[in-house]
Formats: sequence, C-alpha cells, structure tokens
Amino acid sequence: MTHSAALSAAGFTDAELTGGTLTVRSPIDGAEVAQLVETPAAEMLAVIARAKSAFTAWRKVPAPRRGELVRLLGEELRAAKDELGALVTLEAGKITSEGLGEVQEMIDICDFAVGLSRQLYGLTIASERPGHRMAETWHPIGPVGVITAFNFPVAPWAWNAALALVCGDPVIWKPSEKTPLCALATLKIFERALIRFGDAPEGLLQVVVGGAELGEALVASRDVPVLSATGSTRMGRAVGPKVAERFGRAILELGGNNAMIVAPSADLDMALRAIVFSAVGTAGQRCTSLRRLIVHESIREELVAKITAAYSSLAIGDPRAEGTLIGPLIDKAALKGMQAALEAAQAQGGKIHGGAIAAGVTGGAYAAPAVVEMPAQTEIVREETFAPILYVMGYETLDQAIALQNDVPQGLSSCIFTLDLREAETFLSASGSDCGIANVNIGPSGAEIGGAFGGEKETGGGRESGSDAWKGYMRRQTNTVNYSSELPLAQGVKFDI
Ligand code: NAD
Repeated sequence: MTHSAALSAAGFTDAELTGGTLTVRSPIDGAEVAQLVETPAAEMLAVIARAKSAFTAWRKVPAPRRGELVRLLGEELRAAKDELGALVTLEAGKITSEGLGEVQEMIDICDFAVGLSRQLYGLTIASERPGHRMAETWHPIGPVGVITAFNFPVAPWAWNAALALVCGDPVIWKPSEKTPLCALATLKIFERALIRFGDAPEGLLQVVVGGAELGEALVASRDVPVLSATGSTRMGRAVGPKVAERFGRAILELGGNNAMIVAPSADLDMALRAIVFSAVGTAGQRCTSLRRLIVHESIREELVAKITAAYSSLAIGDPRAEGTLIGPLIDKAALKGMQAALEAAQAQGGKIHGGAIAAGVTGGAYAAPAVVEMPAQTEIVREETFAPILYVMGYETLDQAIALQNDVPQGLSSCIFTLDLREAETFLSASGSDCGIANVNIGPSGAEIGGAFGGEKETGGGRESGSDAWKGYMRRQTNTVNYSSELPLAQGVKFDI
C-alpha cells in the first residue's frame, strides 16, 4: 500500500495532513507524509481544564457503564485493525505482522479492562473495635497524562487508557513527535466508539500534537494527578523529579538492557529462535529487545555460529513486503547511533559480526543486525543502544551469569534457557534476576497484557497493563464505620470528656 493510500484508509483528509509545522516522515523511505498542526503550548491549560471538567462527570458514571465505552472501543479497533496496523508500519517502520500485533494488544487490553470494570475490588478489614467495620475502597483519581515513545506508538497508550477510562479518569495523550499520526488515527477510532456510547462527557480523550514542551505542561500540572511516561531513561530523569516535586504519581516505563542466560542444558534450537526474534524484531527497537546474551562457555562458540548463520538469511527491507523480518530504524540518527555503538564496542575489545548499513529502500535507515562477542561487560554493553546489536559474553557458573545479568543500570526484562529446574528456580528467586520481567525458556520480549508490565532501577519502577496495575489509576480510601452506640478509640486510648 502506498503512503497516501494508508493515510486515507486510516481516515485522514489532505487538509488534516498539511499546513502545519510538525513534519512527519515515514522511516520506510524517509518520505515526508504530513505537516501537522501542533498544539500550541499556551493551549495546554485549556486542555487540562477540559479533562478536569470531564472528570467531574465521568467519575460518577458506574464503572461497568464506563467499561461499555471501552468494550465499544475494542470493537472499533477490531474493525480498524488492518488500517491502524498499516499506519503503525508507515509511521514506526514495523513489519506488517508486528504492526497488526500492536493493534491486537490494544484489543486485548480493552477486553481485559471491560472485565475489570465489574471488579475494581476493595477489601473488608477486621476492626479491633466492637461494632465497627473497616473497608478499603477505590475511587477515580483525576485526569491521567500519557506520554508515549515512537517505538510502540499505540499499545502502551491503550495499556494506560483502557484502564484509566474504566477507573473513571479522562486521558490526555502526548504521543511521540515521531508518531503523532497513529495517535490521531486512534482518536478517530475512539470517537466512533464515543458516538455509539452516547452520553460521555466532552474531553474524555484528548490528543496533543508536538514535542517535549507539551509533555512538560502535563508533568508540571497539579490537575494531572497521574502521569504515565514511556520513553528513554533520559526523559524519565527529567520527568520523575518534577512529578515528585508536586506530589503527583509518576508511572515511568523507561529504557531496558535485557539479557538471556543460555545454560549448558538449554534446548539450543528453541533458544536460537527466541534469540533471533527478540534481538532483531522491530529492528531491535523494543524496550524489551534482547541486547545481551550470557552464554555458558561450553556452548558459546556453537551458539554464536548458529546465530550468525541465522542472521545471514534474514530478509531486510521494506516492512510492508511479505517475507521481510527486519524493517528500518526510525531515522538516520538511530543508524548513526548504532554505528557509533559498534565502533565503541570494537574499541572496548569486541569482535563484530554483521551490523553493516543495508541497502533497504532508498531514503530509509536500514542495517544488518550485529552480533558482538565481548571480552567483558564493558561500558557500551551497559548502555541501551536502540538498534539490533546483540552483545555476547561467556560465563562459567550460574552465580556469575546472574551477577552479569543484574550488573547494568536498567532492570526491565530477562530470561534463562535451561532444562535444569534448580537453575530456573534460582533465576526466578529473590537472589536471581532483578528485573520486572523474568522468563524461563521464552525470550525477553513480546509480553502478554495479562501480567503487570514494567521494570526496576533505571527502567523507572512503573507497572502498566495487567495484574493489579489498575490501582495506579485510582485513589485508595480506608473507611471505618461505627455502627455501635459507643465511641471506643483505637489502641485502647482513653479520652473521656
Ligand atoms: P524519548 O524519551 O525520546 O521520548 C519519549 C516521549 O517523551 C516523547 O513523547 C517525547 O516527546 C517525550 N519527552 C521527552 N522529553 C520530555 C520531557 N522532558 N518532558 C516531557 N516529555 C518528554 O524516547 P523514544 O526515543 O521515543 O523511545 C525510545 C525509548 O523508550 C527507549 O529508551 C525505550 O527503551 C523506551 N521505551 C520503554 C518502554 C517501557 O515500557 N519500559 C516502552 C517503549 C519504549
């Protein structure tokens, strides 16, 4: 599909795509596809005020009814899956099946949130006082700001928004300035759900188009009690303290530096498939991409040979073409970053296989994936380079492997390939992986929505999506009700008047 066909299938008119100051390019060929009108920074106060006013109405709507809106959103997403998936491919450069997969993830979290809308459970708690009842209830908290990264232009928004909406919170979305079209197309889909829903307040979902300064307005506002920000650790370092300063709640989903330990007992064919998908999928531009392979010395050479052989047969090129497995990096700067990291790795003793700039499609930033054998976990290995570079290091004992796995600033995803139960359980234990995600015989990327998603250390500590992540979008209240005719004080305190 041509760019203009994909844009019109997603519902954009020429007028919407021209006349503005934000240039959007497709990483497929570097072509300019839109000049979008940016949201003026001065308008952010009005945007936040609209969300605040929507909140006063939405919080009173029963949660299962709020779930109905998310159910309709899920239906509209199902109907628009191909068009939105194609737009993800156009704007983020993902291969077709990964673009569709991202939309499927939105659908899945909508289904999850619909069920949740009939739960949002509190507790009853035993009171120490006779004739008293204690309970914990969960209430909507207010407008939620959602800042997203280019590499997952829609799914992380849905992880936040589907939950926030059933929890009773309006959403203000500041997508990456590199992928605003996916957000605007999602807004169109949401608006179709709103029409079918009927009586939702105005301002339930607003999308603001522009750069970091719009995000900063959300970060600074006391009227945005929850700020969820997905992106680089550099961004999180700027955002986290500012939200803390105003006692807001930040859900930070930042960079990863994910590892796989391959033990001598591992099923190497399975490990190989997991390695290739998680290291080169999305051209190495997933927060959960596999970046470090920690492999037992006894199988290191064999595994490196298998990986380099597998890499040589991967089709690199136009992500829309059937059979392509590696599409473009987001832009030329990312390609430069990859080449600089490879130079640094070589200077730090690395032996590089692959990694050359690939012909791809004219105008796009395409590269062959690289495997780099490292003598140690040097400085460059400890950094997240957003590109398909896999560093390989050897180990002798499991303790060494776990120590290497944990000895990086980031703590998002991790895994071990082993058929040894003791090794697997040690890896998952309190003295094992220190990451938010730890898997056995599965790669580090491609998480399901049912689990809480996020990581520790410089990954930011946030949790989104499944499990009880919904609690991040609500305020908790402890209630004590006295239905007796006495007024006993807790802890036996006497205060008779
Ligand atoms: P980025 O940090 O450059 O930008 C992310 C978003 O933050 C953009 O919308 C940007 O406009 C905004 N932003 C930047 N500075 C800001 C500031 N000071 N205040 C408010 N907003 C600001 O990241 P990117 O290049 O778009 O994405 C790649 C990074 O995102 C990688 O590090 C990747 O690991 C990370 N990521 C993490 C997760 C996760 O769930 N942990 C998911 C996807 C991506």
